[in-house]
Amino acid sequence: MTLELQGIGVSRGIAIGKAHILFHNQPDIREYLIPEFSIEQELDRLRDAIEEARQQLKAIRNHIPANAPADVSSFIDTHILMLNDSSLTKVPLEMIQSRRCNAEWALQLQRDALINVFNEMDDPYLRTRRDDVDHVVNRIHRILTDQDTADHEIADGRLKGHIIIAEDLTPADTVLMQHQGIAAFVTEHGGATSHTTILARSLGIPAIVGVESIRRYIQDNEPLIIDGETGVLIAGADETTTREYQQRRADFAAHISSLSRYKSQPTKTQDGKSITLLANAELPDDLSTISNAGAQGIGLYRTEFLYMNRVAPPEEEEQLAAYRDVVEGMNNQPVTIRTFDLGADKTVDGGRKLTQTVVTNPALGLRAIRLCLNQPNMFRTQLRAILRASAYGKIKIMFPMIAALPELLQAQSLLEQCKQELDKEGLAYDRQIETGAMVEIPSSAICAEMFAQHVDFLSIGTNDLIQYTLAVDRIDDTVNYLYDPLHPAVLRLIHMTLEAGKKYDIPVSMCGEMAGDPRYIRLLLAMGLEHFSMHPNALLEVKQVINETNLSSLPDNTLQIMNMATPFEADVLLEQINA
Ligand code: PEP
Ligand code: MG
Repeated sequence: MTLELQGIGVSRGIAIGKAHILFHNQPDIREYLIPEFSIEQELDRLRDAIEEARQQLKAIRNHIPANAPADVSSFIDTHILMLNDSSLTKVPLEMIQSRRCNAEWALQLQRDALINVFNEMDDPYLRTRRDDVDHVVNRIHRILTDQDTADHEIADGRLKGHIIIAEDLTPADTVLMQHQGIAAFVTEHGGATSHTTILARSLGIPAIVGVESIRRYIQDNEPLIIDGETGVLIAGADETTTREYQQRRADFAAHISSLSRYKSQPTKTQDGKSITLLANAELPDDLSTISNAGAQGIGLYRTEFLYMNRVAPPEEEEQLAAYRDVVEGMNNQPVTIRTFDLGADKTVDGGRKLTQTVVTNPALGLRAIRLCLNQPNMFRTQLRAILRASAYGKIKIMFPMIAALPELLQAQSLLEQCKQELDKEGLAYDRQIETGAMVEIPSSAICAEMFAQHVDFLSIGTNDLIQYTLAVDRIDDTVNYLYDPLHPAVLRLIHMTLEAGKKYDIPVSMCGEMAGDPRYIRLLLAMGLEHFSMHPNALLEVKQVINETNLSSLPDNTLQIMNMATPFEADVLLEQINA
């Protein structure tokens, strides 16, 4: 029987493969009394489970592919080390003896005690360590209760070619699974501009989110077809449907390769306006895709991926090496490095955001520049590394999520301090290095004129700008229908920012997902946007739209879209603009 499910298509492409279901649910742990004569046996049960967990982790460690980021190993090493710690190995054994309780319960009590200690720590970085405790305890619990471990961590190639079905995935999961060659993923939760889906698009992994209760309908190894554009998932497809999708997959591949003819062409509208196309980079591996797409530089280098799947933040030398690789790999083209935008859905250690909710509204909390300024030492390490890398090529520094001018000034003052330190140490950097601010909060768009006087450039981050303007959590599929780039409030804020750039004669780019969506390109051109930064897979398609556009023949009422009262009216006008 064929089953068709509909979700939100967030990363284009057709995948045909077998399902692999991930369960992250916590096992149900209950207490029961152990008779005196079975205590020794219960102690052995726990010792054996800990040993088994250790062996599992070592096996994972030994099968990490050579091209996986180094951080993946340190992430696993931490878990192995925790299994040697007496707080996990000795204390629960004592509890079994003193309380005569079962091994699962003793472990659970010790887990709760450790988590409480971590929760009370002021240091947000250390607080995230409790996710490690959870992961390790969860693994032992699963062994004790005979359940499968969450094997997205297993880097042994078993997921190759599979379509991953999960409740949700973190960006860190996605990086790990991409190294195992998954064909696609489908999740119950998530939004079109969550960091996980942005990553999927840049890695070219077809993906669907928001398919409610999917894990109830699909079985492990069931053959599936997914269309990452329309959001359709088909299980048990008949031969005709399978052939149809095979054909569509081939057509899609042909379409992508036909775009290569644009690679060497300049980006210019039919009436001669030159446009700059830049790439967004998430991972070091992106460099080859970026150069294949013919980008004129990197408009957004998301450094937070350097901080994921590991315990301690990267040191200055490690960051310097990473930034230097990027800037040298770009052969003198400019690279805009964004200081770390950690927090919200990007946890520092790749921990599961679902298991521990720290604050009620993480997107409104200690994130991005707020975290940078809250952790000045970690921030300065990064600033020093970026500055030092600027001696090897053209680098610009960009501060994320600026809401108020003092944040920007404080960040710039820390940067000045770092420059003075480097001067004293005799270390080279680009003295003309440019700084910019991201406009992704309504306050900064409304006050863009104020910010424009203090920076060399502005960059509009529409993913967050839409989220914060419309109060729609970008990772919450239940309110996804309200996430609208064409909302007049969003368009007016974009327009205000572009006007501020013009008035103070500084470039304004856009690096949110809107800049890489062919549907919005003509509208953005008409609004005056000249610098677009997007995931490299979108670049040639966007170039095609630009090169086929004649600005003088766009409808006279194009900018009236900022006054459209309903999404329907805005869509109708957008269709005329794109006709
Ligand atoms: C944005 O918010 O549009 C943006 C580019 O930043 P990120 O998606 O990393 O939050
Ligand atoms: Mg953002």
